[in-house]
Amino acid sequence: MIILRNTLAVLNLAFFLVTCAAFPWSSSSRDNAHVTSHQRHIVEHQSHKLRGVFPQLTWLRDTAIEKVFGQPPKKDGSGQRKPAISHAANPNLPTTLLAKYGGDVVLRFNLTTAAEEKALAEAADTLFLDVWEFTNNWADIRLREDDVASLLGLLPKSLQRAYSHLMPDLAKTIYQSYPSITFEDFEPAPPSRRDAQTFSPALKTTGGADLDNIFFRDYQPYSVIVPWMRLMASMFTTHVRMLSIGTSYEGRDIPGLRVGVSPKNSQEPLGPRKTIIVSGGFHAREWISVSTVTYIAWSLITSYGKNAGITKLLQEFDFIFIPTVNVDGYVYTWENDRLWRKNRQQTNLRFCRGLDLDRSFGFEWDGTTFQNNPCSESFPGEEPFQAVESHRLAEWARNETQNNGVKFVGFLDLHSYSQQILYPYSYSCAAFPPSQENLEELALGLAKSIRISSGQQYGVSSACEGAVPYRSKASGSVSARMETGGGSAIDWFYHEMKVRYSYQIKLRDTGSYGFLLPKENIVPTGEEAFNAVKYFGDFLLGNKGIESTLFPEIHKDENATPPVGLANAVEAEMVGEDIETVNEWDERDWELRRRRR
Ligand SMILES: [Zn+2]
Repeated sequence: MIILRNTLAVLNLAFFLVTCAAFPWSSSSRDNAHVTSHQRHIVEHQSHKLRGVFPQLTWLRDTAIEKVFGQPPKKDGSGQRKPAISHAANPNLPTTLLAKYGGDVVLRFNLTTAAEEKALAEAADTLFLDVWEFTNNWADIRLREDDVASLLGLLPKSLQRAYSHLMPDLAKTIYQSYPSITFEDFEPAPPSRRDAQTFSPALKTTGGADLDNIFFRDYQPYSVIVPWMRLMASMFTTHVRMLSIGTSYEGRDIPGLRVGVSPKNSQEPLGPRKTIIVSGGFHAREWISVSTVTYIAWSLITSYGKNAGITKLLQEFDFIFIPTVNVDGYVYTWENDRLWRKNRQQTNLRFCRGLDLDRSFGFEWDGTTFQNNPCSESFPGEEPFQAVESHRLAEWARNETQNNGVKFVGFLDLHSYSQQILYPYSYSCAAFPPSQENLEELALGLAKSIRISSGQQYGVSSACEGAVPYRSKASGSVSARMETGGGSAIDWFYHEMKVRYSYQIKLRDTGSYGFLLPKENIVPTGEEAFNAVKYFGDFLLGNKGIESTLFPEIHKDENATPPVGLANAVEAEMVGEDIETVNEWDERDWELRRRRR
């Protein structure tokens, strides 16, 4: 318990901790036996390092926000600093935001037939509208309010009334998704002028019982994420290393963290190191995917040596965390356009930049569809791997397997939004992955672990599904869908890298905020995704089903007593039953599809 107390004291001091939320499992004395004196040594040094880095991170973050929204308030005449900028106190939106999105709305169309979906997809393509997201039942589209009439004019009568407004004031929602500037405790001075003394007073004002982790309290820009990753690597040298996947189109590093330890005293010759990739930020505006990758990384890193299950997991597997694959796009969402999706590569159309990284991979790349216009949000480029960052990731992965003794066994590509767990193939519903049953089994387990963790429901389906389920379509070729699915990362890793368990997970929410998910969701989304990753690792260790002893909390029997305080636990159990029923249905559906082939 001493170690736990030391660790908490350190993290409290630094505000880096989501406190107990980051430690979902109590630390038993048995677990503490895994903590070596070397780890203890590290813990003792964490305090010093964090003290030095925290003000720098805040300064970097605030500088980035300042770039977008201008200077924070200065001290008034009495020498008192005004409260930090808060959105409530500053209802006036920056003019740039209003100019760009002032007249925009997001509409949700409820789709029931393939003909409706086709019509909507074609209309969206004709008008170059931004398709935000789609599931089996709906599609969300952003457009100018002035264009709504034109869109409706292109749609069948049945669709003209089958829509609702998701976001009445898009510009304001965008503004609120940026962190507020927090200069109340620090002079906005360069990091070199700061020291532990200026840091200490802030600790007293915001510390105490209100333990919080400032890093996960807000979304963080690239300029903060990179030093944070370096910090992780320098603090936890036993099991964390920083790496670079390569350089982006605009010359930025695509950073990654390798988390894991090889088993000690192994007499056996070591085979290839089994490795799991967790990536985020393929699409720049999907900020929750970026924060969630860092949250999972943080949770694994800080649980090592404290939790027997995690310790074993990190002995058996390396995890590679890549929070911002699309670094240029991510930076662009912070500095210019919050809703930017693609990378920032120049295309042959001067005014339409950017390639869709998740359509650029070399397996079943599809450049022949109606989305091959550079102005499309899903533009795949003119040839496979033309998108620099996709190319870098694939090159890096190939090099790892060919030259560095790595075998990729899992790929979890985080996106948002719509709460879905998708498995290959993305490119076509007519092609069936050889290990489809395993993919489905694990995907359902991931969804269940999330449901038990937070009560949130995540759907499970093949990534090929369009807005309208394939089963409702006539047999034969699939017509226009909301998005084509060729060249996707999960297909490439599954097929080319032979990654048996390859998933795209679309995180929260289901449309209330979409890409503009409020920061209050960072920790809960991270937590449920972390539980899914634990389940994932446990499954790969061979502990399938509820008999696992490593992570009993994620393998809880349906009949087990619900956790105290979880008001929706009973409801979650009922939802579970519903989903079991749906699964049976799906199996029949798969059977139908197989026969149809
Ligand atoms: Zn995405």
